[in-house]
Amino acid sequence: MIDKELLSILACPVCKSDVILVNKKGEEKIKCTGCGRLYPIKEGIPIMLEEEAEYEKE
Ligand SMILES: [Zn+2]
Repeated sequence: MIDKELLSILACPVCKSDVILVNKKGEEKIKCTGCGRLYPIKEGIPIMLEEEAEYEKE
């Protein structure tokens, strides 16, 4: 579980937008509100790397 304080200091490394916590198929991920990239959370640590991000078109 990622706490809100941590979330508030994170930003997308690609577009610098704010990020939100989302739940995808039971897995928590960090989603960029700007470009929509999804960053994985591994063992409670957000992996804010462009090469680790999933990019899905909505
Ligand atoms: Zn972004």
